[in-house]
Amino acid sequence: MLLEQGARGRHKACGGVLPLVAPEVIEDIVGASIPEEVRADPPELGLHYVPPSGRANAGKVRNYKIYNIKRDEFDLWLLGLAEDAGVNIRYETRVEELRTSAKNEIIARGSDGKLRIGSRFVVGADGVRSTVRGIIFPEMDAPVMIVGQEHWDATGDFEKSFYGFFRGDISISYAYLIPKRDKYIIGLGVVPHQIPSIAEALKRLRQWLSEEFSFDPNRLLETEVWAIPFGYFTPGKDNVLLVGDAAGLCNPLSGEGIRLAVESGEAACTAIANVRSGRAAVKNYEKEVKGIAEMVKELNVFVQGVDDAGREKFVQEELSRGVGLA
Ligand SMILES: Cc1cc2nc3c(=O)[nH]c(=O)nc-3n(C[C@H](O)[C@H](O)[C@H](O)COP(=O)(O)OP(=O)(O)OC[C@H]3O[C@@H](n4cnc5c(N)ncnc54)[C@H](O)[C@@H]3O)c2cc1C
Repeated sequence: MLLEQGARGRHKACGGVLPLVAPEVIEDIVGASIPEEVRADPPELGLHYVPPSGRANAGKVRNYKIYNIKRDEFDLWLLGLAEDAGVNIRYETRVEELRTSAKNEIIARGSDGKLRIGSRFVVGADGVRSTVRGIIFPEMDAPVMIVGQEHWDATGDFEKSFYGFFRGDISISYAYLIPKRDKYIIGLGVVPHQIPSIAEALKRLRQWLSEEFSFDPNRLLETEVWAIPFGYFTPGKDNVLLVGDAAGLCNPLSGEGIRLAVESGEAACTAIANVRSGRAAVKNYEKEVKGIAEMVKELNVFVQGVDDAGREKFVQEELSRGVGLA
């Protein structure tokens, strides 16, 4: 059973880009190809990195491509696969409580009132502000990065590429631009309560883009603010597992989290399928998810320690390295 607080087709604030490896990983796991209808226009993007010193030292990563998707449609596609596989999905049903004493019992609220569901295993896939995590670890500090993005009707001197911008006075992690049909999404991550504020940081990004890429914003279509995990990881407890953002699994250097959510979801399934009697599923899951958790941890250490000289070096290394054969 899958409980979702939103309606079918709920919106998730997202740039909707997947890096080179993601489609393969996701298709391997779900056993189906990402359909054309969920691809955005243009469906494929290059990858440009822009260091603190600006466009003069920016460049396109060789042999790299990025999948451009419509996030809400992509999620609907995944939900459709789950429905086809026989999953009982209840929309507009919010998990409110979880009792874990003898066995797990979820108390959720839907349009037809309260629902009590007993289950040996629970997977909290409920995002960065996870209710399930808050219940099993009430004392846990789960730091976040606030990500703000703006959708612009604009023009600019950009290729069909995802642009990653690195400059400490704009973002301590990343800023980005994504072409979507007749608009651009620009966005960046900030630490809560920081100076400059998110609005000021976005203003600085627009300014930088105008100076270096002739970015000419015509009309602001939409502004969105949400968050990504920034420096925590927890696999859960006993037979309550946490995956994706709820577990803290999101790349703080690029904001990439879709693939990690799908991968950790698979890891949780494997852990549960292989559980031996008397043993908690979290033991298996810790092993299954270890590789992703370590990668995210290392990236967090990098982002939290790097300065503009380090960002400059990072970009030059990425540009000279390329990724070999795509
Ligand atoms: C502005 C922004 C841009 C991003 N851009 C990208 C990108 O381009 N590419 C990328 O890979 N990643 C991107 N990310 C990160 C990515 O969106 C997340 O890492 C990813 O969505 C995590 O998936 P998830 O399933 O763990 O959580 P979510 O996608 O947040 O899903 C959690 C679900 O749980 C539901 N829920 C929450 N609480 C309850 C409850 N109590 N009861 C029932 N249901 C509940 C929510 O409604 C939601 O549907 C971006 C993030 C932000 C904020």
